[in-house]
Amino acid sequence: MHRTARECTCYNPPNQAMSSTIYLDYAATTPVDSRVMDAMGPYFSRAFGNPSSVHRYGQQAESALEEARETVARVLRCSANEIVFTSCGTESDNLALRGAAFAARMRSGANQIATSRTEHHAVSKTAEQLEAEHGFTVRWLDSDEDGSPTMQSVSDALNANSALVSVMYANNEIGTINPIGNIAVQCRARGVMLHTDAVQAGAYLDLDVNSLGVDLMSLGGHKFYGPKGIGVLYVREGTTLQPAQTGGSQEAGLRAGTQNVPLIVGFARALQLAQEERAERVAHALALRDHIIGEVLERVPDSRLTGSPTSRLPNHASFVFKDVDGNLLLMLLDAAGFACSSGSACKTGNPEPSDVLTAVGLPREWGLGSLRVTVGKETTAGDVEAFLAALPPLVEKARGLKGE
Ligand SMILES: *Cc1c(COP(=O)(O)O)cnc(C)c1O
Repeated sequence: MHRTARECTCYNPPNQAMSSTIYLDYAATTPVDSRVMDAMGPYFSRAFGNPSSVHRYGQQAESALEEARETVARVLRCSANEIVFTSCGTESDNLALRGAAFAARMRSGANQIATSRTEHHAVSKTAEQLEAEHGFTVRWLDSDEDGSPTMQSVSDALNANSALVSVMYANNEIGTINPIGNIAVQCRARGVMLHTDAVQAGAYLDLDVNSLGVDLMSLGGHKFYGPKGIGVLYVREGTTLQPAQTGGSQEAGLRAGTQNVPLIVGFARALQLAQEERAERVAHALALRDHIIGEVLERVPDSRLTGSPTSRLPNHASFVFKDVDGNLLLMLLDAAGFACSSGSACKTGNPEPSDVLTAVGLPREWGLGSLRVTVGKETTAGDVEAFLAALPPLVEKARGLKGE
């Protein structure tokens, strides 16, 4: 059941000194890189023009906007006119699903969307709404135990009625990297559009849209040291979408509204840095991640890794602990100075395991005790050692407190 933030009884940390807390939640968001701040600065102040204006203020803003678009296009190895700036990863997912579904139905009457229960809610809830309120049908793909859709269920889902397939590049909750290239081959063979939510992938994985073979791809700036509130949807040339937001002709008519020039400049700079520094960032994260995974499974009894052990994001470790209340464990960790996540939304009352953990077939006594630990470029070996020392007694404490 979906609840609003107001009803949520998640622990609110007191205003303690944030500096004493070790941040291990980089999959939720990242701090803005100072080089990104520097790049954005002028566009909040002296270079404040509207890119649609004719005068030189407008021209200055427009050239910053188009330069940012070129930068993003170079990373994705596409052309600049295939880049649409949106307000966030969620909006990109919404535009992709709604835009492609409505356009496909207008074109050919196709009204089936294939996606998975392991998707981010920005995709799965959008698919549910298209089914409940707009007459589309959703084919829910089967997941294997890593949370990837099975190739069989993808091929079974492709037919003359298919409007769109949407499969995420990397899973935010359990870290699994999906074989997008293989899925794309199947979709292409049947002439069906493929969207991928690459919001988690943006920080670490190759974003070449041609080797991935996708038609639509979502990105969000704040997952790779860019600002919040800015996203991109890659739209392959020749792919028609119904615009979700109508008005002016910005973003090739697909996303009306004056562009957020400073955030767009920040997005491009952050993506460029992610690309340039990818090898170092991956190597740094991978060493920490593998140490965390090895030690947690060793030191904590009744613990399991979730997601793929091999095909996973380099900064992402995720676990379930049997007979543990995951939210309670997060509170205990926060009180001890560690900011982690359960990887799923906070629930009240009678909690249920997340859609993702249910889809991978975990029993309830395991699925309720999830923990996601995600590292970033600021994370040190010392941070990880402190976390690994603190975790086992806190898991035992959470087990002891269960049911009281
Ligand atoms: C964070 C995230 C989103 C949402 O992106 P926002 O920019 O926060 O709206 C969507 N999909 C995945 C996989 C994510 O990790």
